[in-house]
Amino acid sequence: DSKQISVLGLGAMGAAITRAWLAAGYDTTVWNRTASRAEPLVAEGAKAAATAAEAVAASGLVIVCLLDDASVGEALADAGLAGKDLVNITTGTPGEARERAGWAAGRGARYLDGGMMAVPPMIGVPESGAYVFYSGSRESFAEHHDALSVPASARYVGEDAGSAALHDVALLSGMTGMFAGMAHAFALMRGATSPSGFAPLLVEWLTAMAGAADGMAAHLESGDYTLGVASNLAMMVQGNRTLLRTAEEQGVSPELLAPLMALMERRLADGHPDEGTTGVVDLLATSGRGR
Ligand code: NDP
Repeated sequence: DSKQISVLGLGAMGAAITRAWLAAGYDTTVWNRTASRAEPLVAEGAKAAATAAEAVAASGLVIVCLLDDASVGEALADAGLAGKDLVNITTGTPGEARERAGWAAGRGARYLDGGMMAVPPMIGVPESGAYVFYSGSRESFAEHHDALSVPASARYVGEDAGSAALHDVALLSGMTGMFAGMAHAFALMRGATSPSGFAPLLVEWLTAMAGAADGMAAHLESGDYTLGVASNLAMMVQGNRTLLRTAEEQGVSPELLAPLMALMERRLADGHPDEGTTGVVDLLATSGRGR
């Protein structure tokens, strides 16, 4: 590790990771489309490059943290990438990551794609649990592991460049469903108790129920979706009616719960009363990959 790094993109996340490398003593070159955003970082020891191409030229290890994949293509359009290690932690889809990897290879760069499991205040704070998924060039990851571990810990998830984005988006999707459940629960409880009194109960329950993921994994791996089921689908579909009637009584829209409940009913109607909810995974597949 030469302790030399370039960071392109100084938004909330780009600025946070840049500060982590500066604090760790890295010789850090920065570039941002709106140049004024580099000023506070220059005051903290970063070198500002006038163009993205200049920032790329300054270091072997180039980190890109822009808004989306299109902005990456735009920013790097005329940068010389040959011999560089390009690490793109801009959020994108797995498909975009694979295309970007091919694009980078065509320009002579080694490529890593990153999926950040952190928000900016967690960066550079090891006890925050922040980490970044990386996928793509194994050699590049091995060589730059120390540098990549500075802002948050680094987890390599394979040579398929799309793997980091897939892991990232899978976790965010799980979180999105959790947010839906939380919003519905708070809506039900509105006026009944203080939100701050209810929140700890919700956290405790969701934490206890999160272990269901291990049960689902065991089902998916064995192919037996009835394995160790304590709450069967027939019972849960019946229970869903109580959830919906309660929503109605409380004047709360069922729209966040309804799609999942419809899938549970379909699986039950297909003849699987003794399963848990794992069968819904099969119903979600719209093409070969999801099966
Ligand atoms: P910001 O909105 O704070 O910053 C966006 C950055 O992208 C700015 O530097 C902006 O430049 C730049 N940009 C946008 N369009 C272009 C373009 N066409 N050409 C060049 N530069 C462009 O976003 P964040 O820093 O929060 O996020 C950056 C990435 O990190 C995103 O992909 C995001 O999904 C990801 N991420 C963010 C997290 C967060 O909590 N903030 C968490 C996990 C991932 P300018 O200043 O000129 O507008």
